[in-house]
Amino acid sequence: MAVTQEQVRDALKRVKGPDLEGNIVELGLISDILIREGKVYFSITVEPERAEELEPLRQAAAKVVSDLDGVDGVTAVLTAENAPGTTKAPSGSSMANGSSGGSAPEHPRVQEARAASARQQGGGAAPSLNPGQSQGAGAQGIPGVKHLIAVASGKGGVGKSTTTVNLALGMQANGLKVGILDADVFGPSQPRLLGIAGRPTAGPNGKLQPMNGYGLKAMSMGFLVEEGTPIIWRGPMVTSALNQMLREVNWGELDVILIDMPPGTGDVQLSIAQQVPLSGAVIVSTPQDLALIDARKAMFHRVDVPVLGFIENMSYFICPHCGERSDIFGHGGAEAEADKLGLPFLGGIPLHMDIRATSDRGQPIVATDPESEHAKIYSDLASKSWSEIQAAEGTLVKPTLTVGNDSASLAVAISDGPTYDLSAEMLRVMSPSAEVQGHSPSQRVTVAGKQNVKIKELRPVGSYAVRIAFDDGHDTGLFSWGYLEELGRDKDQKWAGYLAELKEKGLSRS
Ligand code: ADP
Repeated sequence: MAVTQEQVRDALKRVKGPDLEGNIVELGLISDILIREGKVYFSITVEPERAEELEPLRQAAAKVVSDLDGVDGVTAVLTAENAPGTTKAPSGSSMANGSSGGSAPEHPRVQEARAASARQQGGGAAPSLNPGQSQGAGAQGIPGVKHLIAVASGKGGVGKSTTTVNLALGMQANGLKVGILDADVFGPSQPRLLGIAGRPTAGPNGKLQPMNGYGLKAMSMGFLVEEGTPIIWRGPMVTSALNQMLREVNWGELDVILIDMPPGTGDVQLSIAQQVPLSGAVIVSTPQDLALIDARKAMFHRVDVPVLGFIENMSYFICPHCGERSDIFGHGGAEAEADKLGLPFLGGIPLHMDIRATSDRGQPIVATDPESEHAKIYSDLASKSWSEIQAAEGTLVKPTLTVGNDSASLAVAISDGPTYDLSAEMLRVMSPSAEVQGHSPSQRVTVAGKQNVKIKELRPVGSYAVRIAFDDGHDTGLFSWGYLEELGRDKDQKWAGYLAELKEKGLSRS
């Protein structure tokens, strides 16, 4: 016999309220109860900050209902509701909540997609998502997800989405668990970049399952709407859709979700920066658009989101035939701009046909050609970005650097670890700069005649590296903490390798 709403409500009265007072029905915490073909849907309203702690309450409620005769399945979800006016923007924001009212309705297309996927699962109509309440949880973190990082640009077409996907894959290659949220609702490109088609299905808890591309968990409006369907987005709808893609998706345990932001610095971007609990932002720019970085930086600063650094895309040209590098936009502009803005320069990505062709085919280069030079560049950018995230969080410990009296050595003291003494000569000849390392192992240069070189200056870069200026004019080596530690740890072996190289090439130290 079919179960009735009354029976469900009676059963739920056996579940005590959050503080073991009363019961969840009489406390008014249960939404409308929906029953379709033996499946029961309802939601329990809780304070957002208690959502995790109250998971057992949700399970208890699901259990008492599933024990009823005639019930084939139960979807019970916790929904977070804030009292009016308590929607919290990320720390310290005092901005008026311009384009994003606290109660934007769920976008009808999200409702539609959810209903369709619930039907696919045989569950009949999907439960309403408590329209307007997912935004209430505004600045709360996503359980299980350690960091949300925005990847932003001053304007469209600079390669932000291509950089996001390859950066995400680089982080994954570095051992992190990574997701991508395509917030560029105006022109979602992650489904194409990741080569994923199809629609997300609903998981057992009624939330959407993320899609998967090359091991990355992904969610995008592109999965939820037909391609080419015109949608007129208003600010509140964007933030509401975005909040749902963040909070109504089973992301699971992730180190980081990279958010591919809509381009520009308008209201929509600002309200995303305000509403999503970002750990930081990375800005992508082309050499021609460096001037736009400032506005981007200012926007994140207004909402207290640290800018982790910027990446210069299409920064130089590598000839696909001979592999020669041309700095067609001049060299060093991005670094100078970074210094001016006080932002770490994370690095440059060449303009290369392989990057374009692979991303346009849905086979991002880091996943499909992991040994390529380009993949190495992205993975290097990924480690620098990750170091910046840790630094912003306070978990990256900077070593103490002390230049020796004669400027001919550097002591690198790792906190709670050893101190390495590195000679200026070794640092100079093993400088991690393009001049020394080239752009591939075959281009690496053996630098000779630096026995008497001195350290002129240490220039800190962001919170992950130092640039060392030497008295012979060389100052382009960016020594990350990791690289300094590696030089110290493998000092004898590396030095012996260098001496052997000198001998082999008939070069000398003096
Ligand atoms: P955005 O997200 O900023 O609008 P996209 O990532 O969609 O930009 O990139 C725009 C176009 O530029 C795409 O066709 C992409 O393949 C190409 N592209 C991006 N980065 C590079 C690069 N480093 N080298 C060559 N082509 C690139």
